Amino acid sequence: MIQLIFATNNAHKVEEIQAAIGSKIEVISLKQAGIDIDIPEPHDTLEANATEKSRTILQLTGLNCFSEDTGLEVDALGGEPGVKSARYAGEDKAFDNNIDKLLSKLGNNPDRRARFRTVISLLWEGREYLFEGICEGAIIGERRGNGGFGYDPVFVPAGSTLTFGEMSLEEKGKLSHRKKAADKLVSFLQDKVLHA
Ligand code: IMP
Repeated sequence: MIQLIFATNNAHKVEEIQAAIGSKIEVISLKQAGIDIDIPEPHDTLEANATEKSRTILQLTGLNCFSEDTGLEVDALGGEPGVKSARYAGEDKAFDNNIDKLLSKLGNNPDRRARFRTVISLLWEGREYLFEGICEGAIIGERRGNGGFGYDPVFVPAGSTLTFGEMSLEEKGKLSHRKKAADKLVSFLQDKVLHA
């Protein structure tokens, strides 16, 4: 069985990625690997941050690993909060404050178009690979649902009437940016490794 360390401290992401990947690959969280560090995200692109996170873990462990960085890109805000999604309203990364800031900046703007974009960085046998997943949708005017995390209660994915916050893990997994990026990671590993 392939083992990969997932370079994140976000328990929601570990749960979603493990559900997306299924049993084909054993995902080991930083917690399970006994690694307790706050990995920096200093760059201005998702790609550079994701790559830095997986390089940091490779240096620490010497093991194959992957990371992901995700941003919410809102058209009417010129792509904000984007790469700054976690710290939009401050360094404490508070989900509630981030949503408050987003809703107040959007106000009554009729253009609610937005997308989540996930970039996965894989470091496999000394080589670096990137996989992208995008979920188009819209920002609604008030929170709905307690599921998921981050901006989920105000994001309605295209083709649905529910917010991600109103969906189960399985329902979100059918549409989500993270699932789309994870599917690309799995098929890459299946082609290159599992069938090699
Ligand atoms: P990062 O990839 O850990 O930098 O995540 C950036 C921020 O985007 C998180 O703190 C969340 O607020 C938000 N975020 C990332 N993924 C999701 C998601 O699937 N749903 C809702 N918000 C998300």
